[in-house]
Amino acid sequence: MWKSRWGGKSVGRLTGSTIKSPEIGQRWLGSLLLIVLLGVLPACGSKKAVSVNEVKHRGKLVAGVKFDSKPFGFLDTDGQLKGYDIDLMRELSRRLLGKEKGVEFQQVLSSTRVIAINSGSVDAVAATMTITPERAKVVDFSIPYLTAHQAVVVPSDSPARHLKDLDGKTILFVLGTTSEGNIKKRLPDAKYTGFKSSTDAFSALKAGRGDAMTTDDTIISGFLSDNCGFRVLDEKLSDEPYGLAFRKGGAETPDDLRVQVNQSLKVMEKDGTLARLKAKWVDGMLKS
Ligand code: GLU
Repeated sequence: MWKSRWGGKSVGRLTGSTIKSPEIGQRWLGSLLLIVLLGVLPACGSKKAVSVNEVKHRGKLVAGVKFDSKPFGFLDTDGQLKGYDIDLMRELSRRLLGKEKGVEFQQVLSSTRVIAINSGSVDAVAATMTITPERAKVVDFSIPYLTAHQAVVVPSDSPARHLKDLDGKTILFVLGTTSEGNIKKRLPDAKYTGFKSSTDAFSALKAGRGDAMTTDDTIISGFLSDNCGFRVLDEKLSDEPYGLAFRKGGAETPDDLRVQVNQSLKVMEKDGTLARLKAKWVDGMLKS
């Protein structure tokens, strides 16, 4: 079951009001978005973290996932929602609720993940979300379940071989990501254009509207599995440990959703489930 409440044609009931244009390059708007995401909204979020008993009573776990980030959460050509984060949530649902189909999926974008959690729209976010100290001030994270790395993709015929070759050039990124801050630190003199989704940023790169695009290597590998004519620079900018995110204020009791997810993730690490998911969705793509 999935619900495109913020996605597809209606990418945002919520995003529509915060991001009016699919392409927002101005630095001030990026900063404003950051203030909103990190500052105001968490203070407004009155909802509490959820317990597994509450989820069982309700009969479904509501998960915020990406719909456009192959191989983590994406709508496949058959119209089905697939990917690592989708399988991970189904597996957690099987282990915690006793049924694999106990998850309702709602679309989140990088810039709406925190809002989705703190508004109470979703119980958890599984959406290529890197655990950072700044984000940990406004949401609670699970233990990491996979580590990606920030990378840069350029057209195959680009003269750029190293990151420094892109200084002064136009670099495309996704709003609400760690990628933005990391690349701006490394290349302060580049020009930047932000997009609401990685699909939009990659489409702009394809259309020649920038010299390079940056996001996690895992997400870039998803685009390159469907597109020829691009290559990834060898240099990686950062480690990006992915965690599930939850509303703050969990009871830390045995019944707390995050506590139980962490227990399950530890078991899934030991019993090979996480390795199996990585082999199924990620490893083959990163090599290609
Ligand atoms: N994993 C990075 C982040 O959480 C970049 C990609 C994404 O937005 O999911 O910001």
